[in-house]
Amino acid sequence: MNKLRHIKTDAIILKTSASGEINRNFIFISPIIGVQNATAFGAAKHSSRFCASVQPYIVANLNLYKSEKLNYLKLEDISNVILNDFINNKLEYIYLTSFFTDILLNSYISSDEFKSYFYLLFYSISILKEQNDIYKSFLFFTSKFLFLSGYKFNLMKCSHCGCKFDRYYFDINNGGVFCENDAVGKKFFIDFKSCNLWENFYIGKYMDLKSEIIDLTCFKQIYTITVNIIKNIFEKQLVTLNFLDEIFNK
Ligand SMILES: [Zn+2]
Repeated sequence: MNKLRHIKTDAIILKTSASGEINRNFIFISPIIGVQNATAFGAAKHSSRFCASVQPYIVANLNLYKSEKLNYLKLEDISNVILNDFINNKLEYIYLTSFFTDILLNSYISSDEFKSYFYLLFYSISILKEQNDIYKSFLFFTSKFLFLSGYKFNLMKCSHCGCKFDRYYFDINNGGVFCENDAVGKKFFIDFKSCNLWENFYIGKYMDLKSEIIDLTCFKQIYTITVNIIKNIFEKQLVTLNFLDEIFNK
């Protein structure tokens, strides 16, 4: 019985907020318990060992205690802390990571997906940290997110006639590309180069995608389509999408 009350897990902190004068609440994602809320008592005091470590985007090992009576998680210890405070150095990083958080907090994540979503965020932050590449980080996060959410788009040939072309139009309702003759609406132009890049991010592994070079023309085509797909998925407007436009659509 007692064993279940103590939880030890890796985690990435997504958000923090003040709780009273001296405590700090935080939301984190864990590969074993998913997205959860917890309280770090005393964390707002500078003398607290939690003060510097309970911060957004730190990766750490958490020791939590589950109070059954009050139904909350209490932080008892935090170790192996990796600070990701580089994010605060650039507005672009802050905007992009808050978009990632927005998506995670507004998605239903089933227990068999906790691990995938944890690593989705972990690697998306790693791309920013190691390569300073906001384009690759966005493409990685959104492609994998759509894949995990069950969206698989037909990008390699026309969805109607089955032939390959240099130019296509993406159809959000039908989830794929159509050639000049078969496309209806023709709202979202996408060329075969962008289709290849996007497909790579859908199916590729992090280790292979690390070395991908992102062509900005391709990025813009994929970005416009992705943002529209995300708007369709989330019925309520995600505020952070406006931030993204400031960095990618300028
Ligand atoms: Zn066709």
